[in-house]
Amino acid sequence: MHLYNDLFTPAQKKLLEETSEYTETRLAKDAKHFDETGEYPQELLEYFFQKKVFELVSSGDRADLAAFFEIIRIVSTKFAALASIMLTQAFYAIVPVSQFGTESQKSKLLAQLVDRQKIGAFGLTEESETSQNSTDVKTVAWETKTGWEISGEKKYLSNAPIADVFLIVAATRQLDGKEGQGLFIIDQGTPGLKINEPMNKMGVRSLPVAGASLNHVKVSADSLLGQKAEGKKQVEIVMNLMKLAVAIQALGIAQGSFTKGLDYLNLVRRIGNRLIDNQDIQYRMADLRTNIYSAEAFVRQIILTDPQNTIDVAMAKLLTANVAVDATETIIQLTGGYGYMKDSEIERYVRDAKITAIYGGSSRSQKEIIAKHWIENR
Ligand SMILES: Cc1cc2nc3c(=O)[nH]c(=O)nc-3n(C[C@H](O)[C@H](O)[C@H](O)COP(=O)(O)OP(=O)(O)OC[C@H]3O[C@@H](n4cnc5c(N)ncnc54)[C@H](O)[C@@H]3O)c2cc1C
Repeated sequence: MHLYNDLFTPAQKKLLEETSEYTETRLAKDAKHFDETGEYPQELLEYFFQKKVFELVSSGDRADLAAFFEIIRIVSTKFAALASIMLTQAFYAIVPVSQFGTESQKSKLLAQLVDRQKIGAFGLTEESETSQNSTDVKTVAWETKTGWEISGEKKYLSNAPIADVFLIVAATRQLDGKEGQGLFIIDQGTPGLKINEPMNKMGVRSLPVAGASLNHVKVSADSLLGQKAEGKKQVEIVMNLMKLAVAIQALGIAQGSFTKGLDYLNLVRRIGNRLIDNQDIQYRMADLRTNIYSAEAFVRQIILTDPQNTIDVAMAKLLTANVAVDATETIIQLTGGYGYMKDSEIERYVRDAKITAIYGGSSRSQKEIIAKHWIENR
């Protein structure tokens, strides 16, 4: 698909070519090891910091943003967990600071997040009746004479076990009685902040994830992102970009699985035709390819035209997660016992695809967003 041909500068095109080359050689070779061990792929991530890809996220330029999304898609074709680590750093750390930070917060943090001196994590999800899109946050920040005191529990923070800095979403209680919501910048090691043990996961296994508890964590007044308790609006903007990133990741996983599947279906068998010579298999692959490419066109259009259209973004995430789960399950079915075996590296795509229907807000909560305004406008 060549939708972006006129959009990218020669420098952006070169970066994408280098990413493809690195993905096809190094990432394709190493992903299996990291999936089996669950180790953090520090050295592989380093490559992208050296290439300065995270600058694309903080520049505020639409073509830069589209180029970064392309990098996430390409990396996800071979190593989805690395893409998860990258999209967390980009959209859960760099974007909030670059879009809402005060000049002082940006000068302290932004360059360090972009060039790898600091890794960030974002804590929104909590144990509650509703999922991540909820505005019902139980973690509370009380304003004090010198700053804020924060208590609560957060679950499933990507990159938390290796993070240097945390952006924590909390309900705010100001001294003047006003209530709101804010994002708080909290350094690792701040007394009262405890990061739990890393969790063992079904897929994206080398993405480090842990819960966090905050027990009367005291931070300065300067820790409130943007110095404004405007968390609801900020979270919506952050989550829209995160959902587009997950949508793009889902497409990369579907495409990677499709390519691996097709390679196997094309193999000459000792007895009988190649699997791809069966018309039924051709038709199922044709359906998959059509679904993947039409979903990709839809997501790219939103990225280029209206990435903050919350309903369109919800549709993009819902659609692409469904496409990824369907594509990876179909491929494992069509490749039979071969695909089921770890060595084929086909089963990993099934496990990795599932996360795209869960994190960034579950598929069910995307349906809620899409349907909500029909009810509200009645
Ligand atoms: C690997 C991983 C990384 C993550 N990283 C982060 C991160 O960095 N930061 C962060 O803040 N969060 C993160 N999350 C959290 C993630 O966004 C949530 O898991 C997701 O939003 C779903 O919320 P939940 O787990 O609380 O599920 P729940 O809200 O408990 O929902 C469980 C299931 O029930 C369904 N359900 C819920 N309520 C209803 C209802 N009323 N009626 C019918 N069905 C319902 C949901 O759709 C879902 O399918 C991560 C999660 C994972 C697994």
